[in-house]
Amino acid sequence: MNERMTMPAAQGIAAAACGYLTIDLGAICRNYLKLAEVLAPAKAAAVVKADAYGLGAPPVAEALYKAGCRDFFVAHFMEVAAVRPVLSDNAVLYVLNGLQPGNELACAAAGVVPVLNSLEQLRRWSAAAHGLGKRLPAALQFDTGMSRLGFSPAEQVQLKSELADHELVDIRFIMSHLASADEVESEQNDQQLAEMQRIAKEFPDLPVCFANSNGIFLGQSYHGYMARPGIALYGGNPMGAAANPMEPVVGLKIAVIQTRTVPAGTKVGYGATFVAPREMRLATIAAGYADGLPRSLSDRGAVYFGDHRLPIVGRVSMDSMTVDISALPEEALTLGSLVEMIGPHQTLDDLAQAAGTISYEVLTSLGQRYERQYL
Ligand SMILES: *Cc1c(COP(=O)(O)O)cnc(C)c1O
Repeated sequence: MNERMTMPAAQGIAAAACGYLTIDLGAICRNYLKLAEVLAPAKAAAVVKADAYGLGAPPVAEALYKAGCRDFFVAHFMEVAAVRPVLSDNAVLYVLNGLQPGNELACAAAGVVPVLNSLEQLRRWSAAAHGLGKRLPAALQFDTGMSRLGFSPAEQVQLKSELADHELVDIRFIMSHLASADEVESEQNDQQLAEMQRIAKEFPDLPVCFANSNGIFLGQSYHGYMARPGIALYGGNPMGAAANPMEPVVGLKIAVIQTRTVPAGTKVGYGATFVAPREMRLATIAAGYADGLPRSLSDRGAVYFGDHRLPIVGRVSMDSMTVDISALPEEALTLGSLVEMIGPHQTLDDLAQAAGTISYEVLTSLGQRYERQYL
């Protein structure tokens, strides 16, 4: 019998994918345990906002729960719906971006812990607690120098004086966020730490939650009672310029959809930004900026085949890009061959750097057109 005809349909679809994204859940768990070890006796939460940085919040949160994580942060309330069902009741979900007006009862019903960023949010949450006649949990965020979210220094005095009126708000911890933790030498780290320590003295009964991934590696004084790593769980480098201690999580291979040989002088891609300086062999591969590969990789980035670096030539298109394969033996790449975009030869951080961006943006942009495989 013809083997092709007996192939399950799903396999046929997989074979037609433009690219293959592997997400190593085991590596995410090992990264979690590594961070937990660095942090002990402080504990490690997990930031699973933005669909766990694009990697799939439900499977990632489920794996992290099994690895022992019990505290999960999302950014928006709407992200709770995807994560809550995969977690047992003893896991706590926090919403970083706070409480939107009118969202109080839904938030209370969902049993999540909002991070309150202003007096207005605190008062609304307190009123909701009175309305429901029960205590409601919350975290309080302070702005220690990033000017993004949290109680401003001006609000802190008022907060202290009225906190006793909000006895139905069960404050679990106080928190803040570092702005320059990716630069170990930045004096802003010390300044924010000093400000956080000053605030902690004002609220001596409340534990402190401070460090993101990078902050964990700034030293124990940044650990507080719980840290909030995100990118380090997903294999991004939390050490700035130093070597990455985390295990890689993501692999990305892209399919070749056409190869050609072109004579010297041939224009390549939109706007003809690249003109072949000599006879070249080119391959068009099946992913572009709609798949999260930034257009800034045009004429700059590369992919790999074996140990060979294959430079991207011309502009990155929406659904494809073209690479120079002249360095490869003829016929090494054919229709359907796979080249490495993220893997042993080019890390997530390497790719981000080539694109002039950060690992966070690459991960959260990866898009839905790859065949995803969870390991
Ligand atoms: C995104 C975020 C984190 C996680 O940061 P990483 O750098 O990915 O570890 C922690 N805290 C807050 C407030 C965040 O917004």
